[in-house]
Amino acid sequence: MRNDSALHITVRTGEARAILCETTQTAETARQIHRASRTCAAALGRGLSAAVLLSSTQKTGRLTLTFKGGGPAGALVMIAAEGVLKATIDDPAVELPLKANGQPDVGGAIGREGRVTVVRDLGLKEPYVGQSSLVTGEIAEDLCLYCTVSEQQPSLCALGARVGERVLSSGGLLIQPLPGCSEQTITDLEARALAFSNISGLLERESPEELVNSLFNGMDPVVLSSRPLAYQCDCSRERMERALISMGRDELQLLIEEQGGAELVCHFCRSAYAFDAGQLRVLMKEQD
Ligand SMILES: [Zn+2]
Repeated sequence: MRNDSALHITVRTGEARAILCETTQTAETARQIHRASRTCAAALGRGLSAAVLLSSTQKTGRLTLTFKGGGPAGALVMIAAEGVLKATIDDPAVELPLKANGQPDVGGAIGREGRVTVVRDLGLKEPYVGQSSLVTGEIAEDLCLYCTVSEQQPSLCALGARVGERVLSSGGLLIQPLPGCSEQTITDLEARALAFSNISGLLERESPEELVNSLFNGMDPVVLSSRPLAYQCDCSRERMERALISMGRDELQLLIEEQGGAELVCHFCRSAYAFDAGQLRVLMKEQD
């Protein structure tokens, strides 16, 4: 099994840049953690790739990508921080029949009535927040529109996740013309859009490095850098304690009286943190 990675590429000596990512292992980890249905595993895979592609344009910091479309699976949230990824979906058990074209109905699960929100936390005073409306809920089209409308960066985007009993392949490609890009290069890139759209199928047969050469054949592709990707959660007991403290005295008192304690489950790794009544009382004291 290959490790996941994201490649930064330029074509035609900097006329356009591209990011190609493979997220098969990461998406499979997400599927296992959330015991996700096929449809939701595909949504998680596409979402993780989308987060990698968007975060690749920032050198440091953390990116949070949220799709809220009013569909039965609820919100889909991904966090990417320098190659470390995690994701969650409200109801990972939601399963829908395949669409007529044989693809999972990710748009049906996520919904189309809502927004995609991107928060770029670069460690500055205020994070950068961008939003756009959902179009299909299929993730790729929505990501493309977000880049073009909210970040004013015209983009070609492809995302795919093939899911059987497990995630067979998952990946994405984002291509953006840079200042001075010729009409010819844009035409050449658009002519390859159909090949790009089968990114998950291609990744089953070729490595990302091989794909760069076959997809951008004749366009002088250069791989500038490669970043390893991995699913990892940074939750901790201390963080859960802070969450409990922030609930307020009355809520904590209620938990002690009604449940004799509390169990918090991390949305991203499903780890459970148990607090008994005595531990909750200590947290109540910390509030004072
Ligand atoms: Zn966690």
